[in-house]
Amino acid sequence: MKLLLRTPSLVHAAHCENVLRAAGIQAEVRNTWLAGAAGDIPLQESAPQVWILDDATEADAWAVLNAAANPRPGPHWQCRHCGEWHEAQFAACWRCGQPQEQAAG
Ligand SMILES: [Zn+2]
Repeated sequence: MKLLLRTPSLVHAAHCENVLRAAGIQAEVRNTWLAGAAGDIPLQESAPQVWILDDATEADAWAVLNAAANPRPGPHWQCRHCGEWHEAQFAACWRCGQPQEQAAG
């Protein structure tokens, strides 16, 4: 388990979790129960947290989140190998690893 990021927005935390899971990275949101009940707990400690279950996926997790935060314009594309659909910012199929260039068309 590794803490990936904190965010004051539970919606953002849930979005990150969804993006990571869609990319095949196991993630979960913690601290959701403290939202709105911070009290005297420092905000930094009470903010929702996004954790990754496997520390080794941290680099991939950030790549996925950065790609999601800066989506490339373009249509969704379908993997030629396995048929999975992806948003334009993903350069390769998250399911089978097929690069987008070879999948396009
Ligand atoms: Zn594929």
